[in-house]
Amino acid sequence: MSQHGHATLSGRIAIYGGDAHPHAARRLAEEWPDLEWQSAPDPALVPETMPLVELLERADMPEGALRIDVQLAGGAPIIRVAGGPYSGVIYGVEELVQRVASVGPAGVSVPVVAVERTPKLAYRTFWTWDHSTNWELSQVGHQEIGVFNPYGKPPGGFLKDYKRMVDFCSRHQIAAIVIYGFFRDSHGGVEAAKELTRYARERGVRILPGVAIGAYGGVYWEGDHRYNLATYLRDNPEMAADMERGVGFQLADLSFPLNFPQSDYTRTACPSEPANIQWMADALEWLVETVEPGGVNIEGGDYGVCGCPRCVTRRGEREAASRRDNDAEFWSHADMADNFPKLFDAARSGGDDLWVYCELQWDNLLDPAAHAPLEALPKGGIYQHTFNRAYWERAKDELTAQHVHDLPTQANVIRSQFACQWNGDERTERYAFNAPVFADLAKTSADVGMQGLTVWGEPSPYHVSAELSYLAFGRFGFDPTLSWAEFMRGDVAPRLGGEAEAEVFVARMTELDANQVLPVERLRAIRDDALDAARGVTGEAIRRWSWLADRANQRLYMGQ
Ligand SMILES: [Zn+2]
Repeated sequence: MSQHGHATLSGRIAIYGGDAHPHAARRLAEEWPDLEWQSAPDPALVPETMPLVELLERADMPEGALRIDVQLAGGAPIIRVAGGPYSGVIYGVEELVQRVASVGPAGVSVPVVAVERTPKLAYRTFWTWDHSTNWELSQVGHQEIGVFNPYGKPPGGFLKDYKRMVDFCSRHQIAAIVIYGFFRDSHGGVEAAKELTRYARERGVRILPGVAIGAYGGVYWEGDHRYNLATYLRDNPEMAADMERGVGFQLADLSFPLNFPQSDYTRTACPSEPANIQWMADALEWLVETVEPGGVNIEGGDYGVCGCPRCVTRRGEREAASRRDNDAEFWSHADMADNFPKLFDAARSGGDDLWVYCELQWDNLLDPAAHAPLEALPKGGIYQHTFNRAYWERAKDELTAQHVHDLPTQANVIRSQFACQWNGDERTERYAFNAPVFADLAKTSADVGMQGLTVWGEPSPYHVSAELSYLAFGRFGFDPTLSWAEFMRGDVAPRLGGEAEAEVFVARMTELDANQVLPVERLRAIRDDALDAARGVTGEAIRRWSWLADRANQRLYMGQ
């Protein structure tokens, strides 16, 4: 059985813990289909001659941490996969099937090893809107940008998109998915939401509905529901905010202006009215009880601030309205400081392990005055600091561990509002090869003592640029000490047909991204080289090279 410190698995194999970890067991059977799996309710009763896999959750390990222990003590190998809560056992099985074991003609070969890994950034989260999350490509209604959008896909599209995303996150150590537009009557309402959280929990992925305090629809984004903001304000029109100015925001790092037409989606409630905050708290309690999510993402609304006399008085000296002059800011930290604690408690009524994000909005991490109102925010929240690209370029030089240590809030995470549709030229950075910047963000976050990173995750990994960027996010977020060369060798090269092929592929993607306009001769050469390469590889690598050829070809058709 043992050859040079390897165990070979073939034929019948016992599995213990499959009932408690059905997805981990399913993944083993999926990846190693030639083995005949037999459930073992008691591992002590498994004959010594029969290989055994044990799956065990360990409460004393951090969430997502994994341990694989392969032993050849008796006649047959024993593979123990232990993991921390929520996702650790699943990550352990993925580590085993993707990186530790290999499948050959004689069976599954597993080296005699002890592997132990703990995620460095605990909070690794995708941020999404429902309407522009396009992971199921075989349906109509795709959108790519916007925050006040109707839903245009068939009603089943929501679950189709997000189940694919959950599958990817589960396999690649991406811990959570924030969803704005989580509840809509037009994509299945409460029932679809419940089905998604159930599906994701089974796969070790946290679903975090995105809500805003008196903005972005409240808790139930769109539909005839008591926790929908437009419905609430129709019944209680006196509760509406009196906005300082028109609704919307603009982004200096995006090369075109954004448009925010007025509609039910843009309605807002005054954050100084206690009844409004009580309504939000009730809605959050209903949310966590009804769909049992992995957490909640709470923001203050980023498209304007109530300027009524009560709000002005309440903010008082803590926050000058002039912070919002010249479109510098579109939100209020004082509003967040006054209302988040109550909403945090409401969300945590669903359990102490829920992840409750508190969005601290954009481009102010290095400005102590911006954070002064936040002294009273509760411990246990995850405080999210959002960067546009230009601010990231500044922060990666200036931000230190001391800055983060001195913040009034703990724990802290960075959210990238770039490497997505919200920054860049007319193409935006949505389909760009963002893997290097995700690696940098993860390394910087770890270096300065942040506990997490949030990036946009809307485009399908059918786009190879997105696929490799998401892989980088999962890998560098889990282990920021990973080197770029190791990532290229271990993760990118096997997907593209070899190391030399991977270097060429990344160079071509980077060239296309860096140049909004290229000569048609150059585009034709990129296309033709990619077509040649596609003929020289097998499996999924064909799809990846064909995608590159098509990407160049589309631009060739456009003449630039
Ligand atoms: Zn007000």
